[in-house]
Amino acid sequence: MLIQIDKLKRRPRQIEIDEQASDFSVLRELIDQGTVVFKDNIRGTMTATWVGKIVEVSGNLRTTITSSCGRCLKPITSHLQIEVLLCYSELAGDEEDVAEEVELHSEDLGLISFSGTEIDLRPDIQQEIIMAIPQQLVCEDACKGLCPNCGIDLNREQCTCAPPVFHAGLAALKNFRLE
Ligand SMILES: [Zn+2]
Ligand SMILES: [Zn+2]
Repeated sequence: MLIQIDKLKRRPRQIEIDEQASDFSVLRELIDQGTVVFKDNIRGTMTATWVGKIVEVSGNLRTTITSSCGRCLKPITSHLQIEVLLCYSELAGDEEDVAEEVELHSEDLGLISFSGTEIDLRPDIQQEIIMAIPQQLVCEDACKGLCPNCGIDLNREQCTCAPPVFHAGLAALKNFRLE
């Protein structure tokens, strides 16, 4: 996933991506923690173009993941379609001050700074995938979740645990309103 800047200046380049999620360091951590399971490689085609001092990388990535319902822990499969647009701007000048200034300016514009003769897409591609992983998924809005006391799946069975007690303060307020 390396882009050679000199070559890119001559002509745009297509990059075919077909990578195992575990080849990305942070994704590997998520897999090891059991946060997410990748059912498929990360696949897609990116096009890199040199547009006057800026390297534009765009394309689509797709993969299939499984994560757990936030309430009942049932596995949920999500098909991710990730639209990627990354813009890299070259750091100019040798002086530290200049570099810092350019970097700040670049961040304002949503540009990623690079220096040297090549760009490694891997960390930024990884970032895009992480952002596309849905947070706080529930299997369905009506999911009743697990009983906090005995851990039974309340969607399938009912337990004999006492229902959660009303907060005394709230109960008092309710009574007050009824009167
Ligand atoms: Zn659920
Ligand atoms: Zn219970």
